[in-house]
Amino acid sequence: MNANWTRNAFVYLLIIVAAAALFFNIYRPGETPQAITISDVAGRIREGEVSRIVVREEEMRVFLRESETPLISRKERNIPLIRTLQGMGVTPTQLGRVNIVYEPPSGSGNWFALIINLLPLILIAGLFLFLFRQSQSGSNQALSFGKSKARLFTGDMPTVTFGDVAGSDEAKQELEEVVEFLKEPQKFVALGARIPKGVLLVGPPGTGKTLMAKAVSGEAGVPFFSISGSEFVEMFVGVGASRVRDLFEQAKRNSPCIIFIDEIDAVGRYRGTGLGGSHDEREQTLNQILVEMDGFGTDTNVILIAATNRPDILDPALLRPGRFDRRVTMDRPDMQGRRQILDVHVKGKPLAKDVDLNLIARQTPGFVGADLENLVNEAAILTARRNKRAITMSEMQESIERIAMGGPERRSRLVTAKERKVVAYHEAGHAIVAYLVKHADPLRKVSIVPRGSAGGVTLTVPEQDRYLVPRSYFVDRIAVALGGRIAEELTFGDISNGASGDIQQLTRMARAMVTKYGMSEVMGPLQIGRQDDNVFLGREISEQRDYSEEVAEQVDEEVRRIVSSAYQRVRQMLTTYRSQLDIVAAALLERETLDSEEFIEIFEGRAGEEFHGSIAPQPV
Ligand code: ADP
Ligand code: MG
Ligand code: ZN
Repeated sequence: MNANWTRNAFVYLLIIVAAAALFFNIYRPGETPQAITISDVAGRIREGEVSRIVVREEEMRVFLRESETPLISRKERNIPLIRTLQGMGVTPTQLGRVNIVYEPPSGSGNWFALIINLLPLILIAGLFLFLFRQSQSGSNQALSFGKSKARLFTGDMPTVTFGDVAGSDEAKQELEEVVEFLKEPQKFVALGARIPKGVLLVGPPGTGKTLMAKAVSGEAGVPFFSISGSEFVEMFVGVGASRVRDLFEQAKRNSPCIIFIDEIDAVGRYRGTGLGGSHDEREQTLNQILVEMDGFGTDTNVILIAATNRPDILDPALLRPGRFDRRVTMDRPDMQGRRQILDVHVKGKPLAKDVDLNLIARQTPGFVGADLENLVNEAAILTARRNKRAITMSEMQESIERIAMGGPERRSRLVTAKERKVVAYHEAGHAIVAYLVKHADPLRKVSIVPRGSAGGVTLTVPEQDRYLVPRSYFVDRIAVALGGRIAEELTFGDISNGASGDIQQLTRMARAMVTKYGMSEVMGPLQIGRQDDNVFLGREISEQRDYSEEVAEQVDEEVRRIVSSAYQRVRQMLTTYRSQLDIVAAALLERETLDSEEFIEIFEGRAGEEFHGSIAPQPV
């Protein structure tokens, strides 16, 4: 243990010293020389730009009058500099203005400089020797750069199964098929079924994506190769692509198996858009992944699972059919989900009788699985420090606060009671309008579980793919988007910035109606402004203004008219259904998520008696 520690410390020290020496050797602070040719030097002397030249053997440092940093050049061996310059048309007068200094060669006398120059080499050689000896004595991988760092988990690893992943039932159902395929590939192949090659797990950090991927391999009883996108790009240039190759090779030899690529956005980001053409490490790695995936036949029983919390920035090439064409969403859990996750993590921990897991679930909106695991763990630690036998509610409460206060990115996550209420009314407003209007997509689900930067969501589903979108649809969509803001206004007499996304969306729709689809009576069927969606430039840059100031004013006027008539309409609706707004908001505060049937029952008053007349809203 101790010997190990000193050895590691020694290696780290060596690496640091070598890196520092290399850095100073190459960088030479304050002086980043630019190399120029000798004829360039002659030219600059003729222009009178050069003040001084310091010559040491073949190397010249050329100092310009207006700059402190010298340019570097080389003179020809064994030919006097002055002769060369004169041969290039520099006159004696011009030469007279330059102060030429000869330095003695840095000969054998200058031991110090020599050692400084060689130090990094010596250290690196020493390091390699050291690692080499180590790698011979044991199983050390430090020398196998380029070899995949994917680790092989075989049957003897503690196998995680779907049972360990609480909630996420929809995700499990979708992955069930993958498990079956890995277990009995012949069955599928015999039917000529096309098996998914790639599954993309999408969800915020800590929602159990890694856990879920492991559970798939656990359920299927196949090896699990994993690598993280950020590892691909980590240090050695040109290594990413060869790592991918090794990884896939190793996986194919061990099929059926799973390759798990965590944080795929680190390599799979949208490739260069053509501005400042890039051909970097990341891109080569990504290309290699695509090549390997395409090389899989249907008989290769390797399934790729990738995880990301930023599906929006992924390169479309990754998402094409035959690649990561299955998408499985891991959302932040709602109250019930949080309860189930807590159940998983309190297993085997002594709980005092006063611990109410339902109450904890209720108090932790926005927490993901990792937070809840952390919560239980913190509580256990606190309990031990207090020399108690079992975790009580007080330790649980303290841990909730600690985690909510946690890292800076997490701090805002525990929404206050007031904010929750505003969000509940906001989403209730969207949902009610979505339910009442005739032409927009029907309501599917409304939730106040925070998502990304949004406090909640109201999901609607198109009944079918729409190719032709009627005007009435746009009008109703704008109304739905306004529902949140107006519900806040009616309830609290104040409004929040929570509607900014809605407002952006409805403004775009109204503007498109006027300028793109010719849906405004006043403007008529005209396209206003050139509207090519240029993917390379931002929309603002590419939209050419080819109409007059007057037309621009008319457009603004029309957009405003569309939105304000929608505004009147929605205000009217929500005023009429004011009591339903209270009831739905109360139900959301209680249950966090309502699907469309639950919503309708509550709205129509057939269920949810407990919500009727339950709250008198206070101003925020
Ligand atoms: P992600 O990969 O999405 O960032 P992880 O899979 O690494 O999240 O989750 C971290 C930990 O949080 C897991 O090891 C597990 O203990 C806990 N966890 C997350 N989601 C769940 C869940 N649905 N059920 C049980 N535990 C979970
Ligand atoms: Mg993860
Ligand atoms: Zn909204």
